[in-house]
Amino acid sequence: MDFSRLRLSGFKSFVEPTELHIEPGLTGVVGPNGCGKSNLLEAIRWVMGENRAKSLRGSGMDDVIFAGTGKRPARNLAEVTLVLDNFERDAPAGYNDHDTIEVTRRIERESGSSYRINGKDVRQKDVQLLFADAATGAHSPSLVSQGRIGALINAKPQERRLVLEEAAGISGLHQRRKEAESR
Ligand code: ATP
Ligand code: MG
Repeated sequence: MDFSRLRLSGFKSFVEPTELHIEPGLTGVVGPNGCGKSNLLEAIRWVMGENRAKSLRGSGMDDVIFAGTGKRPARNLAEVTLVLDNFERDAPAGYNDHDTIEVTRRIERESGSSYRINGKDVRQKDVQLLFADAATGAHSPSLVSQGRIGALINAKPQERRLVLEEAAGISGLHQRRKEAESR
């Protein structure tokens, strides 16, 4: 499953509806300081179900909503859609009847997030498991944030193990085991 498009609206500095095409292979984002490069990576992580505001450089989840500037009023809504190619039919079971998979997360100020997969309302857990099974979740080592390389070098072995588990694609299994044990 390749990422093919990213649509943002009202997310952090991307106040106007914006669509980016993601070509196969390695993608580089270049631009001056503060132009929104890290915000793009955070949008990808957010739509995949990231819930730790701190890892999105905010203190609460509403901080991802455009907060306004001297010239523009704040928004009350943010929405991000990640479009995945599924021509190879290599999505996890249950998602293989479509050529593309569109995952959308939307947040309204003070009322939390909602998720859709191909237009159908789903739980946050469904989105997290979709990406965990595809070994590319919000905590995936393929998303390398600013400062992460240094942090990894200084990490404890236990923390490094979590990174390896994500890369090996087994964290979805752990999540399901936790779910089963709590029943
Ligand atoms: P650098 O090269 O320094 O790493 P960058 O291109 O990664 O910069 P970002 O950190 O993605 O830049 O973007 C920072 C900008 O996004 C700042 O101007 C900040 O004010 C703006 N921003 C972040 N959150 C919001 C928000 N909720 N509403 C409006 N603007 C925001
Ligand atoms: Mg940055």
